[in-house]
Amino acid sequence: MKRRDFIRSLAGAAVALSPASLLGMTRSDPMDAEDVQDALLGNGDLATFSGPDGRTLPLPDLPPRLRGRDLENYLHRLRVFNATHDGDVFLDAKRFDLLRSALARLERIQKMVGFGNFYLLSFDEAVHLAQTRVEVGAFTTDELDFLEQIFYERALLYGFFGEKPMKNLTDQIDRREVVKVPNSGNHLYRGKPLEMYTLLRRRVGNKLILTSGVRSVVKQFMLFLSKIHEGNGNLSRASRSLAPPGYSYHGISDFDVGQTGFGQHNFTEKFVESEVFKHLHSMGVLSLRYPRDNLTGVRFEPWHVKVDV
Ligand SMILES: [Zn+2]
Repeated sequence: MKRRDFIRSLAGAAVALSPASLLGMTRSDPMDAEDVQDALLGNGDLATFSGPDGRTLPLPDLPPRLRGRDLENYLHRLRVFNATHDGDVFLDAKRFDLLRSALARLERIQKMVGFGNFYLLSFDEAVHLAQTRVEVGAFTTDELDFLEQIFYERALLYGFFGEKPMKNLTDQIDRREVVKVPNSGNHLYRGKPLEMYTLLRRRVGNKLILTSGVRSVVKQFMLFLSKIHEGNGNLSRASRSLAPPGYSYHGISDFDVGQTGFGQHNFTEKFVESEVFKHLHSMGVLSLRYPRDNLTGVRFEPWHVKVDV
C-alpha cells in the first residue's frame, strides 16, 4: 500500500499519532492513552528533524516540568519569539528546497481558488487540483513526503507543546458546518463559535471584526510554511508564532478578532491597547487560547479567542 493510500485509510480512525505507522512501525491495535504518552515522549527514534550536526534531537523537557533558569529561558524565547535562539531546530537544505517548491504550489492554488475557498480546502482537494491544473502542476512525491513528515512528526521536537485537534492530514472541513461571515472573507463554525462571535459583536459593536476564522489543514500549512520560509528554515521560530498544521484550533472552533482600522497591530501585542481588546477584557467572557506566558510554546496572542467545543 502506498503511503498516500495508507493515510487515507486512517482518516476518521481514532489514531492519535501516526508517525510510527508511517515510518514502517505498523500497528494493528489502536493506541491507548499510554501509547500516546510513549509516542509523545518516546525514544526519539522517529525523528525527522536532526540537530545542526546531523545527530538525532533529544526530546525536550515539557514546559510544566521546567524550573528556575530553564523556565526563564523558555519564557524569554516566547517573549522574543521572532528572534533565533540557541537550540532552535532548522530544516536541512534538501527539505528547505522542498518547502519552497511545495509552498509555491500552495500559493498558486490559493491564487486559483481565491482566499475564501482556500481557507476551507482539504489536502486531497489541493493534491487533486494541482494534478489537474497545469498552472499549478502536480506535487512531486518528494514534496508530498515532506508535507507528510511535517504533519506527522512530533512538533514538540522543535518546541510546540499544544494538542493536535486535527489528527489526519486528510481531515476535511464539512462546508455544511460553517457559515461565511459577511465582509470578512472568513468562515465560522455554526454553534458555539458563531454564537460567541455574535455575542462579542453585540457587546462590543461593529468595531470588532473577524480577522481569521476556520482554517483547513492546507491553509494552516500555507501559513506555517511561509513562516518557516521567512525564518530561513527555522521550525522553532515558526511554531512560536503559529501552530503547525493539525495543531491549530482554527481547524475546529477558534477564531481571531481585531479592531477596524488597527491594521497589522491586530496581530501584535499592541492589540491589548485597542478599544476592542479593553472592552472584551472588561466583559470577562473572553478566554484566550494562548495567554501570556502560556506553556504550549506559542507567544502571547491577545486576539485569539478560545472556543471549547
Ligand atoms: Zn488565531
